Amino acid sequence: MLKTEILLPTKENINIVGAALRSGMLAALPTETVYGLAANALDGGAVKKIFEAKGRPADNPLIVHISDLEQIKNFSLVREIPSKAYLLAERFWPGPLTIIMPKGTAIPNEVSAGLDTVAIRFPSHPVVRAVISAADRPLAAPSANISGSPSPTTAAHVFGDLNGIIPYIIDGGACTVGVESTVITLCTDIPTVLRPGGITPEQLKDVLGEIAVADAVLHELKPGQKAESPGMKYKHYAPKAHLILIRSSDDNYINFVNERAGDTVGALCYDEDIDRLNVKCVSYGKKSDYAMQAAMLFDALRQLDNTDLETVYGRCPETAGLAMAVYNRLIRSAGFEVIELA
Ligand code: AMP
Ligand code: MG
Repeated sequence: MLKTEILLPTKENINIVGAALRSGMLAALPTETVYGLAANALDGGAVKKIFEAKGRPADNPLIVHISDLEQIKNFSLVREIPSKAYLLAERFWPGPLTIIMPKGTAIPNEVSAGLDTVAIRFPSHPVVRAVISAADRPLAAPSANISGSPSPTTAAHVFGDLNGIIPYIIDGGACTVGVESTVITLCTDIPTVLRPGGITPEQLKDVLGEIAVADAVLHELKPGQKAESPGMKYKHYAPKAHLILIRSSDDNYINFVNERAGDTVGALCYDEDIDRLNVKCVSYGKKSDYAMQAAMLFDALRQLDNTDLETVYGRCPETAGLAMAVYNRLIRSAGFEVIELA
């Protein structure tokens, strides 16, 4: 067992963690999306430790984080920068958008999981940017959770999953976006959203004109269907309880759940539902506030795991705008089990 230190983001601590990362160690860092588990992206041995710590399948590639656009060229992260990447970067970077480009010579196979492409993100959170600058290296960082559990949006979530496994967690408070970055690939004929996040397909379309959204974002892969992004084939964020989503009107949801009330039955609902439900409730935000839902979702899933609930009926999120990111996560938590009511 390692001793896991939780550090405040002081200048001194940022330098300590930056040096640790440069020497091949891991650290969990706050970003605007979720907490990331970082390693020097140019050091395959360091990156391998991320997979070990998380129990992450080796064929699921990582996102490389930068703190300055020049690092893409200076560290040979990509083979070429597609012209559309400049348009996206100008509008959305720094921020919760990951762009997939042709892989450069400096990217070890551990990062790209053997693919010919690499995912790059320039985050906006001042702490992760300061750490990247202090390390003077791009940092590979997936979410700082054990693979399969909800992504962490607080330092306490990270500690709950990785205490004794990683040396450092920097506590930068709760993440504001709350779901992982939007992933778009520029390595297909039409730029394609592989994962929805804080930047919506509508916003991307605004800049690029034509875009596509990968099938697996909203639908379960059919047997034999190939995932455009390796991450999409794994079951994610499954709570301990059996989670079933209900797509229905407010009244029908309330009636459906209350008819099934019992000690081990619960609801993953909107704020507005709480007073009308006769079961234990965990809310994931206000019905029409998709940003709030994104920010609260993963904490709500973790709260469910701290109960003895065996069956949980969840409100099925909308799919437009930022709600697509919430839907994409929750539908996977529920193993794509949805009941349609009027
Ligand atoms: P995480 O780091 O946990 O946020 O996951 C990163 C996501 O980006 C996963 O779903 C990966 O499968 C996806 N990803 C990373 N690199 C690539 C790539 N080169 N091509 C396609 N998807 C990628
Ligand atoms: Mg993850």
